[in-house]
Amino acid sequence: GAVREMLLGRIRDVADYPVPGVMFKDITPLLADPEAFAVLTDTLAGVCAQRGATKVVGLEARGFILAAPVAVRAGLGFIPVRKAGKLPGATLAQSYELEYGTAEMEVHAEDLAPEDRVMIIDDVLATGGTADAALQLVRRAGAHVAGIAVLMELAFLGGRDRLKPALRDAPLDAL
Ligand code: IMP
Repeated sequence: GAVREMLLGRIRDVADYPVPGVMFKDITPLLADPEAFAVLTDTLAGVCAQRGATKVVGLEARGFILAAPVAVRAGLGFIPVRKAGKLPGATLAQSYELEYGTAEMEVHAEDLAPEDRVMIIDDVLATGGTADAALQLVRRAGAHVAGIAVLMELAFLGGRDRLKPALRDAPLDAL
């Protein structure tokens, strides 16, 4: 609809970033537009309500920017999933494949409880590796994944198909 077009119209294509041949989706113009950012926040908060979420997980770093105001708007707690070595407390860690090598993300284990239904929020779904790792982390913490919500899905990279077995009953929402 019109809202989707307005929001996606504020994402800028940057050619050959971060490496030649990649068309990077830059969300900073949307963030700089207070009306668009508010509409996006309300939309994602609506997804949280629809999916019965009790907590919001944001993925470092751009996922934080979206997930934090969504959590406040939805009246839910915000939990950061961070790159390894950044969280001071007892963590669970999950490694995942990058194009070159592997990376690791962590969450404070005490932030998630078995009764929680967690909405995982990030800006862009590309290959799905990052979202997959976050999904595993939430489940290993004993909580239920209420869904994954992203601003934009790069469908040609096949992230949704890759995630399908891991998602089970959890919906993947993209604008
Ligand atoms: P994936 O693990 O391949 O799905 O990559 C998704 C992660 O990389 C997300 O955390 C995104 O923030 C980031 N990412 C990948 N491509 C883009 C892009 O074009 N724009 C912004 N972020 C991106």
